[in-house]
Amino acid sequence: MTTFIIYNIYIMSALGNHILVEFTGCSPEIMNDVVSIERDMVEAAVKAEMTVINSTFHHFSPYGVSGVVVVQESHLAIHTWPEYGYAAVDIFTCGDTNTWAAFDYLQEQFKAKNYSAIEMRRGVINLLERMDFDLSSMRSQASDRVNPGKYTRNVWFTDKDDNQALSLRYTGEVLFRKESPYQRVSVLDTYAYGKMLTIDNMVMCTEKDEHHYHEMISHPALLTHPHPKNILVIGGGDGGTVREILKHNTVEKVTMVEIDETVIDACKEHLPSIAAEFNNPKLNLIVGDGIEYVKNAKEGEFDLIMVDGSDPVGPAEGLFSTTFYNNCKKALSNDGILVAQGESPMFNGRVFVELNQCLVEIFGQEKVNTLLFYIPTYPTGMWSFQVASKGDLSLQKADKNRIKDFADNNKLFYYNEDIHFAALSMPNFVKNLLAKEAVNA
Ligand code: SAM
Repeated sequence: MTTFIIYNIYIMSALGNHILVEFTGCSPEIMNDVVSIERDMVEAAVKAEMTVINSTFHHFSPYGVSGVVVVQESHLAIHTWPEYGYAAVDIFTCGDTNTWAAFDYLQEQFKAKNYSAIEMRRGVINLLERMDFDLSSMRSQASDRVNPGKYTRNVWFTDKDDNQALSLRYTGEVLFRKESPYQRVSVLDTYAYGKMLTIDNMVMCTEKDEHHYHEMISHPALLTHPHPKNILVIGGGDGGTVREILKHNTVEKVTMVEIDETVIDACKEHLPSIAAEFNNPKLNLIVGDGIEYVKNAKEGEFDLIMVDGSDPVGPAEGLFSTTFYNNCKKALSNDGILVAQGESPMFNGRVFVELNQCLVEIFGQEKVNTLLFYIPTYPTGMWSFQVASKGDLSLQKADKNRIKDFADNNKLFYYNEDIHFAALSMPNFVKNLLAKEAVNA
């Protein structure tokens, strides 16, 4: 059914013309697609013979888009509710434009089944009183300012939690987007951090700060173990952890078990500097569930296990369970070391302490260390790894000179001998979090 209502007050001459439009029965996917909505709104302005100055569009997590296109003749604005297939659009012009052409275009692009519109004359001349004033001084100042006079895009990605969010401006082009059986995988091109992998709208890694994470998950443990040969990585689909592990000459074999081939494909295509070692003959790449893999692994098989999983939702939930870490311990050799992505003590304190406590119960209080490091694009910028040792190897006893040589020779970006030991120092609030948990145990 199509509804079309127009209250057309044409009788009097006015400064502007405003159309308020209700689009309903629209495609929810389109209503949630900030990039295509921005493109359609800008194109609608062009179809209406308007001159586009700028546009700002924002995607809300988990869904919804708001945006404005500023045109020389005024503006077009939109707010969408994908869950209702609804868009509230307004088109305001004060010039000689073909406003209804914008309406027709948007109705077609949004695949709206129903629509209604109200047209209003704004600033009816008969009701206004003209006030003339001297513009000459303002004009001379204004001529000094440069008006870019061209359309620039202003599109933001937001990783949003209940009460806080991180936003990065990107080009507006989504380089990769696919809904896999497990999660929604995207690659965007950001201005400040280069290309970025996101999963379910959460930042996984960016070209600019990925080294912080990948160097810290791998090198502290690898340089604590005297002869790391056989390594297991769970998750890590972007390839950064494997790339770092393979910098160690002692390593003979890396088995990586990643549940989602889509992540690997996206990174091979768009983040080749991170997914750099997928063709290395030492890599045994398995696409499958890491939880199942560890359950069936040979006892004592691995010198090191690195759990490079995402946050504890979806397929990664089981990567934070006692059963999983008991199986990891079995799969470790007698002097083996486990490293696990440990979340942020500030952002996700409960999961942070629960994982620490789970490992303390399995490996023993003295055998578990927390590593803290700084990473700007994760919530709060402070992140952690939990490191558990099956034998007597300890991060505290690592050889400073060995670390220095390795970091220098490989021109590492973040990790060095000072960072190794500094990362073992906890701020008081983190000490308190961990101590409280130990007392409660
Ligand atoms: N640096 C990242 C972070 O903490 O935000 C981790 C990135 S890495 C891309 C996380 C990977 O773990 C994802 O590719 C995801 O598919 C994978 N993953 C999640 N659950 C898994 C499971 N049960 N088995 C294997 N891989 C899993």
